[in-house]
Amino acid sequence: MSSWFESYKEEITRELENEVLRVALERFSKTYWNARNSALRRLPYYNYYRKRAREIKAWSIEHLGELLKMVKENVESLGGSFYLARNADAAVEYISKVCDGRNARLVVKSKSMVTEEISLNEALIKKGIEVVETDLGEWIIQLRNEKPSHIIYPAIHLTTEEIAHTFSKALGSNVPADALKLVRIARERLRQKFVDADVGISGANVIAADTGTVFVIENEGNARFSTNAPSVHICVSGIEKVVPTVEDALLISRVITPNATGQLMPVYISLITGPSRTADIELKLTLGVHGPKEYHMVLVDNGRSKMMKDSDFKEASYCIRCGACLSECPVYREIGGIIWSYKYMGGIGAIWTAFTHGLEKAAPIAFTCAVCGRCKAVCPMEINIPEMILKLRERLLKAGLTPQQLINISNNIRNLNNPFGIIREVEKA
Ligand code: SF4
Repeated sequence: MSSWFESYKEEITRELENEVLRVALERFSKTYWNARNSALRRLPYYNYYRKRAREIKAWSIEHLGELLKMVKENVESLGGSFYLARNADAAVEYISKVCDGRNARLVVKSKSMVTEEISLNEALIKKGIEVVETDLGEWIIQLRNEKPSHIIYPAIHLTTEEIAHTFSKALGSNVPADALKLVRIARERLRQKFVDADVGISGANVIAADTGTVFVIENEGNARFSTNAPSVHICVSGIEKVVPTVEDALLISRVITPNATGQLMPVYISLITGPSRTADIELKLTLGVHGPKEYHMVLVDNGRSKMMKDSDFKEASYCIRCGACLSECPVYREIGGIIWSYKYMGGIGAIWTAFTHGLEKAAPIAFTCAVCGRCKAVCPMEINIPEMILKLRERLLKAGLTPQQLINISNNIRNLNNPFGIIREVEKA
């Protein structure tokens, strides 16, 4: 009998009765799909872009060794440091050392699921460093001490009213449920943090090997501040984000954007190629002018190479983290991503979790999936998530991680044509 099953079932029941979640997800669904469909209608070569994006990712995974070597050489030749972290602990240790070396007291961050994956915030906070999330959604959930519920929209499980309630509690004054006022408060509260921070940490949406350039896609402008204002910038990402050229990275950015946020183009795509520099004084190269003097790129493996070598799950590494599959998922629309995740949520999250955090953590996520296939239909990379979920369930069964309750249901369906174990009269006869 699996220990998580009963308590998880209770959590799901609670989420199904969660009125705030229901309203928030209903509002999200309508707005997101209208925006996505309208953006795709206005992007004439979308099918070409997404098919090409899949080819680029497939090629990149096959040639990842040489691409990583190229990134390292380029980053180092620009005066930056490159670190390939084999696992979460190694990544956290490296980043902690960089922060220690600068005697960092304040770190500002822009949205990064990889830092979530490696539990970076917890490690830095334990060292006495103040860590401030600057993406609005991330800041909201940081105030609530929650984890992200969506890879693109971390606070999408909350209504405006609930966010106003959170701000009121944090500020000790009555904040109205008005998006404009809430945004203004965040702006006022966070602005000085960018200036005071010792270190800025960002993720990367795509990385071009031929120049070592990091692409950071965003709308708010916080990633620009976080990567530019502090004197040290650490970019933390997964090894699967590397593609051969700047042109490839731009093409992938064009596929991410409409699927992630329903826009033709995001407000900002920052292309970061090493630390800030000048040669304005007698052409003498000097690092750190208005932007960071010190630049680190930390690329995390943490189970990814294993996934890439596994023929059943390799395709999961083609994922460009656009989140369209979550937004389309009927299960996600009912229970959201807080309980349906360890770090990564939904069907694709189950596969990622199996490799980054192990089969046991992936089990509840994998068994919650309805295997309906709607994710596959919207995924721009045509990743066959439902097929992978079934393969993952086979592995969970072999590993003894399938709850007995589910084995019973499966046996009942096979033997009695119903999940409840009811012996019908006609069958008795
Ligand atoms: S599996 Fe596909 S739809 Fe889902 S986040 Fe990855 S690329 Fe996007």
